[in-house]
Amino acid sequence: MSAPHTVRDTDALRALAEEAGRALEDAPAREILRWAADTFGPRFCVTSSMADAVVAHLAARVRPGIDVIFLDTGYHFPETLGTRDAVAAVMDVRVVTLTPRQSVAEQDAAYGPRLHERDPDLCCALRKVAPLANGLAAYDAWATGLRRDESATRARTPVVGWDERRRKVKVSPIARWTAADVDAYVAEHGVLTNPLLMDGYASVGCAPCTRRVTAGEDVRAGRWAGHAKTECGLHG
Ligand code: SF4
Repeated sequence: MSAPHTVRDTDALRALAEEAGRALEDAPAREILRWAADTFGPRFCVTSSMADAVVAHLAARVRPGIDVIFLDTGYHFPETLGTRDAVAAVMDVRVVTLTPRQSVAEQDAAYGPRLHERDPDLCCALRKVAPLANGLAAYDAWATGLRRDESATRARTPVVGWDERRRKVKVSPIARWTAADVDAYVAEHGVLTNPLLMDGYASVGCAPCTRRVTAGEDVRAGRWAGHAKTECGLHG
């Protein structure tokens, strides 16, 4: 096993990701996180949208004090910011909040108001993709809460894969989980969840781009409703 502070070049990271993706395909989530924490040490973090704290909880059990990255776009529901604050207060993690270069007011002045209605791809690029790219510079690997059952675009998510755009290892420890698995883990461990999940929201993003879903809809059907867009660019 490599030391946590090992410095690896891009080819080595890519090879590690591809090998681990095969080896860990059937492994439990905690084992996948254990591999990542042991392999990358402090250069491994978790990202969370604060819809729930399942992956943060799993990771904290493996490595207490782990960094949990949250993107504060300036457009979040109060419930989401409250969940972020609660996670920081009660869980053994270090919440790191990333913010865009421009405030919402500055973006409105530069691009006009409600850019999210006119060009959500640009809005996400400015408020999500760019800040995450900057924030991940300190890490070699990042964990997400992506699940294959969330949507067709996520159906082939590897448990460990190579993030070519960011040139980092991307870990999705609960990729094989179902929504029922998440519910069971939340109930068993009393994991913090966003109150909006009890109010008709299946997936929680920025307030202007998220609506409630109805029975039978995809988990992510409530995101960017009315637009062809299904992903914010973080996972595309
Ligand atoms: S989800 Fe909507 S408001 Fe949030 S960054 Fe993307 S387009 Fe902008």
